[in-house]
Amino acid sequence: MRLAILLAAAVVASIAAASAHAQARPIRPGDAALLKRAASPEELVAEAVAKRLTHLSPTVRCGPLGIDVPPGMLVTGVTLLPPHGPAQYFLLLPEECNYLSWFRQSPQRYDPGACMDDACFQLAAKAALALATVSHESYHVLGYRLEKRVECYGMQSIWFVATSLGASVAEGQRIAAFYWKTIYAQREQTTPLYWSAECRDGGKYDLRPASHSWPS
Ligand SMILES: [Zn+2]
Repeated sequence: MRLAILLAAAVVASIAAASAHAQARPIRPGDAALLKRAASPEELVAEAVAKRLTHLSPTVRCGPLGIDVPPGMLVTGVTLLPPHGPAQYFLLLPEECNYLSWFRQSPQRYDPGACMDDACFQLAAKAALALATVSHESYHVLGYRLEKRVECYGMQSIWFVATSLGASVAEGQRIAAFYWKTIYAQREQTTPLYWSAECRDGGKYDLRPASHSWPS
């Protein structure tokens, strides 16, 4: 499958070049209206996944992230940090919420292992990014702040998010491996704060050092 992986890497480079990542920022009074309104069906999906991953009950809303993003960059989610105590909220771009819902409707459609062409890899990359964003923000909710650590932990839980949304474990592992080989592989160059050489099998950020299956 080396050829397929190379093809995927080339296709996804266009997405990863946009430096897709997820941030954290202080919660502001202006966030109150968004956080208080009733959750949409897509937001309920995201909240359910985050709850399963964190064993907490974060509120998730889909909408503008309220941060300045430099041209050419794509930030897909943001965790809202209170002055004290744990984060209880995160925001996702509407596109991420849509992909979560679409993924849940038909997980097999986003399996990179079944891809034969660019369009399929693009779709798989967008879905993988949405899964990774929920996972990443969930680790912020768990209290982690160091982005390179959060991103690495999040990547290792992509499979969990995927299976929470109905994918098989095998597909979840394929999606995580796809993310690692394509989107994560670009981070050293595009978003070095979100990359670490310790994010590898047996590295400091390996959540399952006893297992040599990576990243899930
Ligand atoms: Zn982050």
